[in-house]
Amino acid sequence: MHTTIPTCIVCPQCSSGFTQPTQQDRNTYVQCAQGHRYPVRSGVIDLLGAPRPQSIAAWSNEWRITAWAYERLWRPRSLSILSGQPFPYSRELPAVAAAIPSDARVILDLACSNGLYARTAAQQNPQATVIGIDRSLPMLIDAQRRAVAANVQITYVRADARSLPIATASIDCTLIGGSLNEMEELPRIWDELSRISTSRASLVSMHLLRRGSVSPRLLGFGGITLFGADDVPTSLHTTGWVVTTRQQTGIVQILSAQRHP
Ligand SMILES: [Zn+2]
Repeated sequence: MHTTIPTCIVCPQCSSGFTQPTQQDRNTYVQCAQGHRYPVRSGVIDLLGAPRPQSIAAWSNEWRITAWAYERLWRPRSLSILSGQPFPYSRELPAVAAAIPSDARVILDLACSNGLYARTAAQQNPQATVIGIDRSLPMLIDAQRRAVAANVQITYVRADARSLPIATASIDCTLIGGSLNEMEELPRIWDELSRISTSRASLVSMHLLRRGSVSPRLLGFGGITLFGADDVPTSLHTTGWVVTTRQQTGIVQILSAQRHP
């Protein structure tokens, strides 16, 4: 397995660029121009250090068993369960793929879990640089294995969405699969999304709403936030985006948006 680091990934301490991964005494690491070093673990570039999630939802993603079960057991069925009607990958992923511009050169799967959207992007745009970011090392290692099995090149980076180690104006398309519901401090996420995106960037988010038959009490615990139907579109609008498509099935909303010209 060969790990490369795209030029848009920068040091979280000093924002300078990295050299390509280097091996020393069986350990692989990346090093920034100022000399800050970070380990590469099982092909994942770990820019975060020790695990420190703050919510139960984030903690559950740190558990190895969650990483194993997530895409094998829960994720393929989750949207059908939550929307109350058949909602397989064959329905979800084309909606995501359709919103990825064919000329997108750098694509980010933000809070990527097992990298489902990252693989979709890499398969659709094989020439693009595809980056997956998450806080959970077990999830990222599983995502890396899946990318190898699918024969696609994706760079997985362990980092915090509230302070992304990504150069300003460098991402052409950001994909977010259900993760807005789990994120803390959403205003910081919107600011970061605006900062990292190019002037013509697009964005796709699948997230859950608080309506229909699923009780907010069932899901509204442990760091999961359910949105009103206009919450995410309003946040996008106020941070410089235009919503271009909007699909809603039960409590599942899929939005695509473009930066204001
Ligand atoms: Zn540095």
